[in-house]
Amino acid sequence: MPRPRAFSYQEMFAEVIVDIAHSDVDKIFDYACGEQICAGMRVAVPFGKGVTTGFVMRVKEESDVPPERIRKVLRAQDAFPALTAESLLLARTIARRYRVPLALTLRLFLPAEMRTDKVSERYVTVCFLSGKGEISPRAAKQLALVTYLEEHGEEESARLRELFGSALKALEDRGVVETRKKRVLRNPYEGAASAPARTLTKAQQDAVDCVKSGKSVTLIHGVTGSGKTEIYLTLIADALKAGKTAIFLVPEISLTPQMLRQLRARFGSEAAILHSGLSAGERFDEWMRLREGSARIAIGARSAVFAPVENVGMIVIDEEHDGSYSSESAPRYNTFDIARLRAKYNDCKLVLGSATPSVETYRRAVEGEFGLVTLTERINARPMPEVCLVDMRQEVRRGNATNFSRLLREKLQICLDGGNQAILFLNRRGYSQSVICRDCGYVAKCEHCDVALTYHSEESCLKCHYCGTRYKMPPACPVCGGRHLGYVGTGTQRVALELKKMYPSARILRMDTDTTSGKEGHFRILKQFAEREADILVGTQMVAKGHDFPSVTLVGILDADMSLHFPDYRSGERTFQLVTQVAGRSGRASAPGEVVLQTYDPENYILRFAAKYDYAGFYEHEIAMRAATAFPPFAKIVRVMVTGEDEHAAMDALKEVYGNLSAIYERHREKFLFFNRMHAPIKRIQNKFRYQVLMRLADGELLEEIYDACASVRHRDVLVSVEENPSNLS
Ligand code: ADP
Ligand code: ZN
Repeated sequence: MPRPRAFSYQEMFAEVIVDIAHSDVDKIFDYACGEQICAGMRVAVPFGKGVTTGFVMRVKEESDVPPERIRKVLRAQDAFPALTAESLLLARTIARRYRVPLALTLRLFLPAEMRTDKVSERYVTVCFLSGKGEISPRAAKQLALVTYLEEHGEEESARLRELFGSALKALEDRGVVETRKKRVLRNPYEGAASAPARTLTKAQQDAVDCVKSGKSVTLIHGVTGSGKTEIYLTLIADALKAGKTAIFLVPEISLTPQMLRQLRARFGSEAAILHSGLSAGERFDEWMRLREGSARIAIGARSAVFAPVENVGMIVIDEEHDGSYSSESAPRYNTFDIARLRAKYNDCKLVLGSATPSVETYRRAVEGEFGLVTLTERINARPMPEVCLVDMRQEVRRGNATNFSRLLREKLQICLDGGNQAILFLNRRGYSQSVICRDCGYVAKCEHCDVALTYHSEESCLKCHYCGTRYKMPPACPVCGGRHLGYVGTGTQRVALELKKMYPSARILRMDTDTTSGKEGHFRILKQFAEREADILVGTQMVAKGHDFPSVTLVGILDADMSLHFPDYRSGERTFQLVTQVAGRSGRASAPGEVVLQTYDPENYILRFAAKYDYAGFYEHEIAMRAATAFPPFAKIVRVMVTGEDEHAAMDALKEVYGNLSAIYERHREKFLFFNRMHAPIKRIQNKFRYQVLMRLADGELLEEIYDACASVRHRDVLVSVEENPSNLS
């Protein structure tokens, strides 16, 4: 919009949020500025006695602050507004929704590297003809160089030195050639081969049509290997054809080297792929390419939902059930909620995809809020791998006390003899172990919550993580009287060692949080396995995600029970998802696959449904149980965490929070299914004491009040945070 230029050039005012995430300074400060400043820019402003970075939320022509008190914007930090209009709006919405300082939510939209100013932009020296100076007609090399530059305009000096040697220096000395610095964006995927789109199957084409003409949100529920990725890529390509941009979200672990290659081959430099294998500089440049519009597809894990693309035409969330889509630090946003806001703002479609949708998402789809597309067949009608349930109690009775059933050992041998690969999955979530009777399969559970109890070694007792009830460790199994009570859960390391003994010539890789630290972490391991540098991959849930290894014909699930009895109302859902996902790694190419599922509880309905790939059956059962026990989606679990290094300060804050919440509780008792304060199951993490108020609410109606009750509690160095349906209650 043209501004009247007659007035003084600096009579503009910027509404600035300073980049300090503290509620005391979480308000607009007015600064005078010149007209080169616009909304979305990062600026340097005087603040208190120092200088700080601020974000310009709005530029206006008048300010209520008296002129003598107004200070000036010192300079713009970047030559362009780092934040788009949509980012500014969304940041406000998120800050309000989760009661966190605006500075914190604005940061979500910027690459971390930008804030720390640690990333240097990369420059190269380029040469061009100055139009001055003379060359002797006998200097052939110099003539050739001049001709080259006449044709190419400019060229990197390094390249010219390579081609023409010392002639470059001579021409520079004579002033014929001049140099300048040129900014370059690092492109980590230069030279990737390109691949055309596949012809879609009828089912895939129907899915694409259904999304485009359907509801604002569509769930694609398709078995593993049904070709969902191809559907997403087509939808994204169509958005680009329409002149728009796209966002494609996947769990970090799914961004395998194969997946990256596939995306690169399809979209070339149109795609900016943000993943943990990139250096800080590369990440920053990928972000820049999106901001500039030279890349139009943002691909990445959770945080890519904040990508600086404008005019979005399609948003895809792959593996929508994945736990990594919930943020574990403030603001504790859910990626779906942000994606929904962006889809609304841009008036585009949002697609959720999974072979094992979360119960909550699936319910919204079957009830008609979301569109639903179901793909029941694998591409080329490849069969789903057969799942054999093995009763580990019988193995124990027969004197086999190892982690491997006979069936699994036999099948492993056959797999290795055939020159194929195997994946062994082991669940090692949680920090302590459940107690299980090795004779009858009994698992110690809470009397009030029907969740497995957790063994706490330091107090030598069993505890419920939902209500805090403690139980004594029983001397014998209360059901069968057996004395073989054990703690479930063997680590991946031990399994890898045992394998080495059983199959001395097999090459074994281990993948878990111990082996995947560092920038390249899981990348390196997946690449090694894909390139067949190993025969057996042993790992935690990391091995379950969307990998496509054609030579894998056997998957072994060693301890399905571990996740079944994880102290969480979603343990059944998680187990179903895990078993289905891990099983889906088997038999993806021409050789048929098999799955061996070891359990102490072979009658368990979750495992039975999973073994038959019966999602609908699982869902019917699960949703009925959630309704009967009033757990989400029929209720809302809210946990308020109070943490601080000073135990007394944390306790004081807890008392205040609890007082405020009690007032709500007294007024709305009928809305509370559960209300209590207690130590968090892990009392101290990283030197911080942890307390919590745990609530189960009939619905989400009181959420606003609860957030307010917590936001008003401010104690020095104590953090109060609200979690909705937390995925981790430790
Ligand atoms: P999902 O994401 O549903 O698990 P993928 O997208 O990985 O399934 O597809 C499974 C396999 O089928 C992949 O190897 C993929 O290359 C292949 N595929 C997908 N669509 C087609 C198609 N239209 N024609 C041929 N092969 C396909
Ligand atoms: Zn309990």
